[in-house]
Amino acid sequence: MSIASEIIRLRSELPVGVGLCAVSKFHPASAIREAYEAGQRCFGESRVQELLEKIPQLPSDIDWHFIGHLQTNKVRQIIGKVALIESVDSEKLLSLIDSESRKAGVVTRVLMQVHVAREETKFGFLPEELTEYFRQRKFESLTNTHLCGVMGMASNTDDEERVRADFASIAGIFRDITINIAPDLRGFDMVSMGMSHDWPIAVEEGATIVRIGSMIFGDRQ
Ligand SMILES: *Cc1c(COP(=O)(O)O)cnc(C)c1O
Repeated sequence: MSIASEIIRLRSELPVGVGLCAVSKFHPASAIREAYEAGQRCFGESRVQELLEKIPQLPSDIDWHFIGHLQTNKVRQIIGKVALIESVDSEKLLSLIDSESRKAGVVTRVLMQVHVAREETKFGFLPEELTEYFRQRKFESLTNTHLCGVMGMASNTDDEERVRADFASIAGIFRDITINIAPDLRGFDMVSMGMSHDWPIAVEEGATIVRIGSMIFGDRQ
């Protein structure tokens, strides 16, 4: 199947209200353009250098999502260029995004990455760390960062019940924050979870945006 037909098929299968981030890491600008022509506007990249090379080659109305581990020494390079940083995995990184955004005179939208999967991803806040962050209302010190929600990954396993349980805990943490811990938070409404092999389960468990790469673009080199 072509990139365009995969985009169109996925769009038709995703429920209304669930966004699609097409993960284009390791794929060339030409592949992104093909998806763009099929109407796709949101793309996910996981490496700063690769993202910075692609941005000027592609239309300016693309919403770029940064989805990889962001090193603190590279924050400044992407501030003002991305629509969303999905992978905020420490308070230190968050403070830096905030201060660099202030210096640049922009507001940066971010998701808090939560780590629930077994061993797979080493990055992200532990569930207790994340809920504690909100319980202590540390977000009140941010001036130029908009916390938009949470992002997470399930364990990399064929055990569907394990995957479902991981997605359920990510969505559960999100609900705990929005309903019990900080119900006054505004614009904290995104749950980014689900990749090529597990997105239908993520959607069933409450994803509002899925991040799909290889199913659209084929295997990465
Ligand atoms: C690569 C990546 C994806 C997409 O994975 P696929 O299996 O290719 O769909 C999603 N999220 C993150 C954080 C990734 O690094």
